[in-house]
Amino acid sequence: MKKTVQHDPSCADDFDPASITIDQARLNIEDDISPITGKEKIALRSALNRVLAEGIQSPIKVPAHNNSAMDGYALAGSDLPADEVKSYVVIGTAFAGKPFPSTCQPGQVVRIMTGAVIPEGCDTVVMQEHVQSSDETNIEIGEGHRTGQNVRMAGEDIAQGTTVIEAGRRLTPSDLGILASVGVAEVNVFRRPRVAFFSTGDELKSVGETLNAGDIFDSNRYSLYGMLTRMDVEILDMGVVRDDPQALRDALLMAADMADLIITSGGVSVGEADYIKTILDEIGDIRFWKIGMKPGRPLTFGKINNARFFGLPGNPVSVMVTFYQFVQPALHYLSSGKTKAPITIPAICTTSLRKRPGRFEFQRGIYEQDENGKLTVKKTGQQGSGILSSMSHANCFILLPVELTSVAEGEIVQIQPFEGFI
Ligand code: AMP
Ligand code: MG
Repeated sequence: MKKTVQHDPSCADDFDPASITIDQARLNIEDDISPITGKEKIALRSALNRVLAEGIQSPIKVPAHNNSAMDGYALAGSDLPADEVKSYVVIGTAFAGKPFPSTCQPGQVVRIMTGAVIPEGCDTVVMQEHVQSSDETNIEIGEGHRTGQNVRMAGEDIAQGTTVIEAGRRLTPSDLGILASVGVAEVNVFRRPRVAFFSTGDELKSVGETLNAGDIFDSNRYSLYGMLTRMDVEILDMGVVRDDPQALRDALLMAADMADLIITSGGVSVGEADYIKTILDEIGDIRFWKIGMKPGRPLTFGKINNARFFGLPGNPVSVMVTFYQFVQPALHYLSSGKTKAPITIPAICTTSLRKRPGRFEFQRGIYEQDENGKLTVKKTGQQGSGILSSMSHANCFILLPVELTSVAEGEIVQIQPFEGFI
């Protein structure tokens, strides 16, 4: 449902009745995307961050054998003393990876190390701290012990045949550890999304080129490259494309041929937007949204052949905001079929903030924990959408709802830490 503002829209504010909300845009995007189904088999070590295509059942029990949880002495629980102190003969030692080779009889114990297999004839371990030893081969055990103590049972962590990791999971370091612990060397994962991107603008020069009057260096491709690299996708950097209808059309069709997702930046200002819209309408099925947010109001999303398309605004901060709010969740859904909206947490704002009503604003902030352990946040200077340093100094977005006009020092605001996006 569309959110409404609490006041009458006027020329003095930023509300546009034709705009849609951030959540609505996210939903529309997800509705339109089908998750990748192509699979590949890869080595366990290469599988970090990849999405598991098939659930994995453990071919073995973990632990594989009943083993000792302590350094101590193994014996039969039925041979424990009831309410006296009893003497035993130590007949050998069981080490982790080197089991004791024979059977333990009543009156006997086996010295045992943590992780060692429980010897035949034993089901109980008494900690070495609870034992009196007169010499290497004779010990005494008192009352207060029970059968089965200090023994880790075979299959107690993972039973044979149990699903250890479900299909659709993005593998973490601990998942790699679990898969190794059940002896899995290769896994079936979904292939990574292929993402093609380019910048548009006659004023743009790539790093290494000479700037003529009026030129600027193309920074968006580098921020995009950084954000995409963190996401574990296949990247196709197509460089800068001039503001020329034919060049643009060729680049878009080529990108649609190679990629699952195309990202462009720029070309949304009056004049440029018109012919880009004409081309996109011709070759794709594209929607042009005004989103009630700042920065990043104009956003273009749709389909060119089999590829999904994001046309991001040209301003460097707008590119990063719209990437984090829309492209990143879309890529996550494309690769895993799972929804993941950015995480939002409350913090005390230590600077006063101002905004115009009518749009949801993403100001850039620095959050930290104060000496009392409380989370505080302050803004990073100038907030213009072209001021990339405000983004670079920041470690979070400060979220300012549509109808809000100011935040006083000490008030609670919601923030989105950038780490939450990785
Ligand atoms: P546009 O949407 O093409 O009108 O661009 C809006 C603003 O962002 C203009 O000031 C552009 O010069 C700037 N801009 C567009 N693309 C880039 C880029 N790749 N790197 C840096 N600035 C850009
Ligand atoms: Mg431009």
